[in-house]
Amino acid sequence: MQTNEDYQRIQQLIENELNFPSPPAIAVKILNAVQEDDAALVELGEIISTDPALTAKMLQVANSSFFACNGEITCINRAMSVLGTNIIKNIALSFVIAAELNENGNIGFNYDDFWKRSVTAAISAELLSKTVQFKNDDIFVTALLQDIGMLVIAMTKGDEYNRLLKESRGLDASLIHLEKKLYGFDHQQVGYALLLNWRIPESISEPILYHHHPENAPENYRKSDELLNFGQQLASIYNESQTSEKARLLQKKLTEHFDIDESQAAALLDDVATRSCEILKTFELDPGEIMPYSVLLQEANTELGKLSLSNEQMILEMREAKEKAEKLAQELQDANTRLKELVYRDGLTGLYNHRYFQESLGNELARATRYHSSVSLILFDIDFFKKVNDTYGHPAGDLVLMNLASAVTSAVRPCDIVARYGGEEFAVILPETSAAGVKVFAARLRRCVEGIATLVDGQLIYVTVSAGATTFNKESSKITKNILIETADRGLYISKNNGRNQVTVLEPEVFTD
Ligand code: GH3
Ligand code: MG
Ligand code: MG
Repeated sequence: MQTNEDYQRIQQLIENELNFPSPPAIAVKILNAVQEDDAALVELGEIISTDPALTAKMLQVANSSFFACNGEITCINRAMSVLGTNIIKNIALSFVIAAELNENGNIGFNYDDFWKRSVTAAISAELLSKTVQFKNDDIFVTALLQDIGMLVIAMTKGDEYNRLLKESRGLDASLIHLEKKLYGFDHQQVGYALLLNWRIPESISEPILYHHHPENAPENYRKSDELLNFGQQLASIYNESQTSEKARLLQKKLTEHFDIDESQAAALLDDVATRSCEILKTFELDPGEIMPYSVLLQEANTELGKLSLSNEQMILEMREAKEKAEKLAQELQDANTRLKELVYRDGLTGLYNHRYFQESLGNELARATRYHSSVSLILFDIDFFKKVNDTYGHPAGDLVLMNLASAVTSAVRPCDIVARYGGEEFAVILPETSAAGVKVFAARLRRCVEGIATLVDGQLIYVTVSAGATTFNKESSKITKNILIETADRGLYISKNNGRNQVTVLEPEVFTD
C-alpha cells in the first residue's frame, strides 16, 4: 500500500505528465444528480431522457437477459424502479464515458479492442459477483473503467505507449512493471487519478488502484478487486486467441478461489460469452466470434476424438501393414524355396541335380571331418540304357528313369541324398554310413532296381545298374571330395567291366591315370 506522500508524489507526476480529458458533461450531471438522494430518481431519469441515443441503449441493456427483465421495461423511470437507481446510474455512466473516450487522438491505439475487452471484463465481473453472491452495484462500471488509465496514457504518450503495450502483450504484470519503469506510475494509478478528477465516487475509483494485485487492496475493496481481476481473466479468454485449455485452467482457478463448483464455473464462462455478444452490440462494438466455453470445449473434445480416432486408425493400418509385410515375407520365402528347388532339382526325375550333389557332398564331407564320422558315396549307371531308348523310344526311357528315381528315393533314409548325376547315371550320398554299411546298402539298391518294372505299350521293361561305392571316415583325412567321386566312379567302371549289374566298393585313394 502506498503512503500518503507516495500518493501525492505520483498524483503530481501524473498531472505533470498527462493531459486529462474533461469529463463528459452528461456524466457530471448524472453524478451530481445521484448525490442528492431524494431527487435522484426523478432527476436521473430526466437527465438520461434528454439523450435519446443514451435512453435507447439504457432500455436495451435493462431489457437484456443480463438483467433478466425481458421486454418489460419501456421507460427509464420504470428501469430505475425495477433495477434500482444505482444500477441505472452505473449503466448510464458506462455508456457516456465509453462514448466520450473513443477514437481520441492516438492513431496506433486500438480503441475498439480496448472497449471490447473492458465491456467483457465488466460483464464478467458483474456475472461473477452474482455467482459468488457478492453484492456490489458498482462492479460493472468499476470493471469497465479499471483500465481507463491506459487510455489516458495512450492519448498523451502516443506511439511510445503503443510500443510498450506491444512489448508487454499478454502479460499484465509486465505492463504495470514497464509503465512504472518508463513513467514512474502505472495505469492503475492514472485511472484512479482521472476518476478522482472527474469526481466519480471512490467506491468506483479506489478498487481500480489494485486490480492487478487484489492481494494488496485494503480489506474493504479486496473482494471487489478479486472480481475485477478474475473479470479481466475471463475477458481475456474471449478476447485473445480462444483456447479450451485456457478456459479449462480458468475454470479450475475459479473453483479453487471462490466457493463455487465446476458446473457453476462452466456456466459462468458460458454466460460471459452469450451476455457479451448481447451487451457489446449496445456499446456499438462488434462482438466478433466469441464462442461460449461449452462450444469451445465441445470442439476441443471433437478434435480430441478425431485425434484418438486417427490414432486407432493408425494402429489398425499399421497392424494391417505388418500383416501384409509378414504375408509378403512368407510368400517371398516360399518363392525362394521353390526357386531353390528349381535350381537344385532335376526337371525329369525330381531328384536333386548335379549342382546340389556337389554342394551336399562338400558339406557332408566337412561335417564328417569335423565330427570324425563317416560318409559314403554310391555312383550307379543304368546298364545298356541306350538299348532301352533304341527299343522302346526315348519317352519310354524317360519313364524308366522316373520309376527308378522314385524307387530309389523310397529305398533310402530321409537323411540320404539321391541325385541325378547326369544322363542315366545317379549318385547317393549316405551320411553317417560306414564302408560295411554302404556295401550292404549298395547291394540292396542293385536288387531294388532289378525289381522295377516299367510298363510301356503292354510290355514290361526291366533294367539293371552297375555301381561303385566308397566311404570317407576318420582315417581318410587327406581325402577330398573329388577323390571320393573318382573312387566311386572307378568302382562303377570296374562293375561295368566285370559284367554289369554289380557293386564294387573301393577304399578312397588318389588315382593317377
Ligand atoms: P552302359 O551299360 O555302358 O552304361 O551302356 P549305356 O547304353 O547305358 O551307355 P551309353 O552311355 O552308351 O548310353 C547312355 C544313354 O542314355 C544314351 C542316352 O540317350 C540315354 N539317356 C541319357 N539321358 C537320358 C534321358 O534323360 N532320357 C532318355 N530317355 N535317355 C537318356
Ligand atoms: Mg549306362
Ligand atoms: Mg552312361
